[in-house]
Amino acid sequence: MNLTNSDTNLPAGTNGMRNTRVLISGASVAGPALAYWLDRYGFAATVVEKAPALRLGGQAVDFKGEVHLTVLERMGILEDVRRLQTGGTDQEIVDWNGRRLAVMPGEFTGGELEIRRGDLSRLLYERTRAAGCEYVFGDSVTSLTETADGVHVTFERGAPRTFDLVVGADGIHSNVRRLAFGPESDFVRFLGYYYALVGIRPGFGKVPTMYNEPGRLVSTGGPAAAAFFAFASPHLDYDRYDAEAMKRILLDAFAGMAWRTSEIMEAVREADDVYLDSISQVRIDRYSEGRVVLLGDSAYGNTLGGFGTGLAMVGAYVLAGELAEAGGDHRVAFRRYEEAFRDYAKIAKNGNAGPFLAPRTRRGIKARNLMFKLGPLFSLMMKMTDRFATNITLKDYRPLVRR
Ligand SMILES: Cc1cc2nc3c(=O)[nH]c(=O)nc-3n(C[C@H](O)[C@H](O)[C@H](O)COP(=O)(O)OP(=O)(O)OC[C@H]3O[C@@H](n4cnc5c(N)ncnc54)[C@H](O)[C@@H]3O)c2cc1C
Repeated sequence: MNLTNSDTNLPAGTNGMRNTRVLISGASVAGPALAYWLDRYGFAATVVEKAPALRLGGQAVDFKGEVHLTVLERMGILEDVRRLQTGGTDQEIVDWNGRRLAVMPGEFTGGELEIRRGDLSRLLYERTRAAGCEYVFGDSVTSLTETADGVHVTFERGAPRTFDLVVGADGIHSNVRRLAFGPESDFVRFLGYYYALVGIRPGFGKVPTMYNEPGRLVSTGGPAAAAFFAFASPHLDYDRYDAEAMKRILLDAFAGMAWRTSEIMEAVREADDVYLDSISQVRIDRYSEGRVVLLGDSAYGNTLGGFGTGLAMVGAYVLAGELAEAGGDHRVAFRRYEEAFRDYAKIAKNGNAGPFLAPRTRRGIKARNLMFKLGPLFSLMMKMTDRFATNITLKDYRPLVRR
């Protein structure tokens, strides 16, 4: 099938495209990005999100290299992302006394283009809402039953519905993955570290600053009113939607830490916006099961190496493009998406930023800091991250756009 931009006004379902009703679970980054492209190719996207409203929390996420920027440009949001960008701020690494030990350059923490995760999510949400994509907040899929020509879906709150395809864009602890592929323990490997982002009051200085003790990192200050934590820990059991429970975990984990940590923890006590999750790898040998497919952290994992958001955006572009190119034939499209993407997503499958962020020994902390003082080593690392971010050849699916 070869379509051109002049086919733009055909409504979904009457355009020769099969499988046009698509349910996406998760309205963070991957879900709304996929909804954007599906809508443009003439599919009807419904996004269901467990949280009662769009989640705007989190710190900055970043894009690096030609591939990420090309996808943003083809989506028509590159200028908006640039307008909202936060990046370019160096981060000081200090000792217990606040004395500067090293500087982590802005290009390292923020990639080429950095934006708050909440701003990116809102941008994608607003675009897709305005285009007519359906969003259902405060609900979650409870069962998926595949039939010959669709997937019968039941929900925690809403009435059952039938869709042609279902996409799990619901993060590392994906509900859709659990329902369609099996229990989380079969696919998610905990890497021994947690990270947290807490929206706290400003007042911790103009320069983003971080402090380490073995196995622990706390960082705050600068333009964003947020604190970032990383810490080594055995596996923890808690409710990821219970802010008070997550604050208790953090207060315990950071008790007795020097520098300004006790002051920061006082601000954490007052905060409402808390996000705490593990650093984990996803090991799954296929991204699809019948009419169900995984996208973003649910498929590739989140090792906190600064690749999760770029992967989710590029993955959405490829998955939707392959569906459009295959005329909605999910068997062909899912296979091609996986073939195109597996290698590219390897960085998330193999990485673990935990030991880098919060080395477990004093010697490890010193070695990490030294890296920022040694120019050649730092350049080598930047070159490597750039290579990972650009290690895919993007097809141009734009001739298939219908609206
Ligand atoms: C609140 C928040 C803050 C974050 N902050 C950062 C950060 O500061 N730095 C960073 O590098 N990464 C952060 N991340 C992770 C980052 O967004 C992802 O690594 C990356 O953007 C890929 O996104 P994703 O859409 O695949 O998954 P995620 O961003 O994890 O989004 C998954 C979405 O699915 C929803 N969901 C979960 N379960 C269900 C269910 N049963 N039914 C329906 N919906 C469900 C979640 O509420 C969430 O909105 C954050 C994620 C969230 C949700």
